[in-house]
Amino acid sequence: MAGNGQSTATQTREIETADGLDFDAVVVGAGFAGLYMLHKLRSAGLKVCVFESGKGVGGTWYWNRYPGARCDVPSMEYSYQFDPDLQQEWEWTERYASQGEILKYLEHVADRFDLRRGIRFETTVKTARFDEAAGSWVVETEGGDRVSAQFLIMATGCLSARYTPDFEGMEAFEGMVCHTGKWPEAGVDTAGKRVGVIGTGSSGIQVTPMLARDAEHLFVLQRSPAYSVPSQNRPLGSEEQNEIKARYGEFRAEAKRNRAGIMYVLGENSALDADGQELQREYEKTWDVGGLGFTAAFRDIFDSVEANKTAADFVRDKIAYIVRDPAVAEALTPHTLIGCKRLCVDANYFDTFNRSNVTLVDLRKGPIERFTKTGIVVAGTEIPLDVIVLATGFDAITGALLRIDIRGRGGIELKQKWAEGPGTYLGHSIAGFPNMFAITGPCSPSVLSNLVPSIEQDVDWIGDCIGYMRERGRQVVEATPEAEAGWVAHVNDVAQRTIYPLEDSWYVGANIPGKPRVFLPYIGFPDYVERCTEVADRGYTGYVLT
Ligand code: NAP
Repeated sequence: MAGNGQSTATQTREIETADGLDFDAVVVGAGFAGLYMLHKLRSAGLKVCVFESGKGVGGTWYWNRYPGARCDVPSMEYSYQFDPDLQQEWEWTERYASQGEILKYLEHVADRFDLRRGIRFETTVKTARFDEAAGSWVVETEGGDRVSAQFLIMATGCLSARYTPDFEGMEAFEGMVCHTGKWPEAGVDTAGKRVGVIGTGSSGIQVTPMLARDAEHLFVLQRSPAYSVPSQNRPLGSEEQNEIKARYGEFRAEAKRNRAGIMYVLGENSALDADGQELQREYEKTWDVGGLGFTAAFRDIFDSVEANKTAADFVRDKIAYIVRDPAVAEALTPHTLIGCKRLCVDANYFDTFNRSNVTLVDLRKGPIERFTKTGIVVAGTEIPLDVIVLATGFDAITGALLRIDIRGRGGIELKQKWAEGPGTYLGHSIAGFPNMFAITGPCSPSVLSNLVPSIEQDVDWIGDCIGYMRERGRQVVEATPEAEAGWVAHVNDVAQRTIYPLEDSWYVGANIPGKPRVFLPYIGFPDYVERCTEVADRGYTGYVLT
């Protein structure tokens, strides 16, 4: 790798590949996607370099180490399946794994497959430019390193570009400010302190009960109330685990046939045909089971506003039942569609508002005006604070890609190309950006699916495509603008057949001021797999291979 200093020139020669490039592939990010991509390409004999901003592997699970951080997909499913031995030998301890356990798992994977030596940690990619003459990418890091590679693979994650609103006077605050998405490794001492948490999405909802346990007083600053269902998390016994392991392949295959690629049983009935008793019975049942499967109680919760309302009503009633103070319960109650903004999964979130050391601050009555040296001013009154937790989310799906200055054919900036919203072919390929792939990129099932199998699907597809090119001596692969436009139209068409796009959410970029409103993920993991397989089987239709 060439660096700032002269001394690295020798190093560069040592690692040159036969065609004069430093690497066959550069992968950006060492989370679930980057780790498996490295393993896949390295196993195929490619010389690969992974750049990772963190000090260790894990991506999202490296950075989001706030108290209460936990996955909302069951651990037996939120794990790799590419290696049968790995999936047999790893033992999960809980139904939903904590951040710490997932990080341990990824560290184990990195060691088991000897991946760390291929990763440059604490290295953030700044620019990537396609060199048309060479048919390869030149990648520069913030530290000034510069490498070339035939392929550029973005494994930058869907929820990794943190969003911090531009609050007035933020720098004046003399206490501690931390974002849930970049929680200090050493932890944050909140014991006996006055803590404010801004944001009530999945992160805010997970961190709130944990902060409330320790803080002298916790102020939850809520702009929009969110729907949340209990996770009903519990220890996972070996018996239950072994039962799944005994038929893991079959179990995984079954999950992949569902729209989200997750194991749940989608109700056969329409919520609109059910009477009050049946609605109550089915929702109570799925509420007790816990987790995201709640919205699978009936088959049409995402297809019809009226059907959706039956599920929303049930959760609204639960909030009124759990939260003792009716005014607080009402302030915590959403009146939007349920699940169209990501449904949250919690452990005692609503019950936390029954504690005497917790105050809900309803920002709809008066927004955050400014930060001061000693707290936050809301509606003209200062809330004195020692610690401020920002659970304000992410510039989802496109943010991590656009924070890097990526330039394709003719020097076109990705930012410019996506000014009106992102377009990809099959979620991972972009016309005008040859030999570049984005794992679980915009217009792929990504966040509306179990991300790990989605990642494996993309990594396998990309690996196979590269293998196909190498076998046939092809140097450059590029999606055609027509194929891309067709795919984007299809993604929109599928989304419009549901009620997802009706709500403001990060699925449509509504959480980021100025972000174009476009429905970002593709709905339907099985259809996606079928389309990708078909394209590959037909010799990569929609691509030009030269
Ligand atoms: P989020 O869902 O985008 O929530 C951000 C919160 O910050 C919202 O309540 C938002 O209010 C609030 N906010 C933003 N700007 C604000 C401002 N200027 N003033 C006041 N409030 C403001 O982000 P997140 O909670 O980090 O979750 C993002 C996604 O990550 C989740 O949807 C989920 O997919 C994933 N995640 C999953 C888990 C899990 O597996 N359980 C845990 C954490 C995250 P508005 O709603 O009014 O915009």
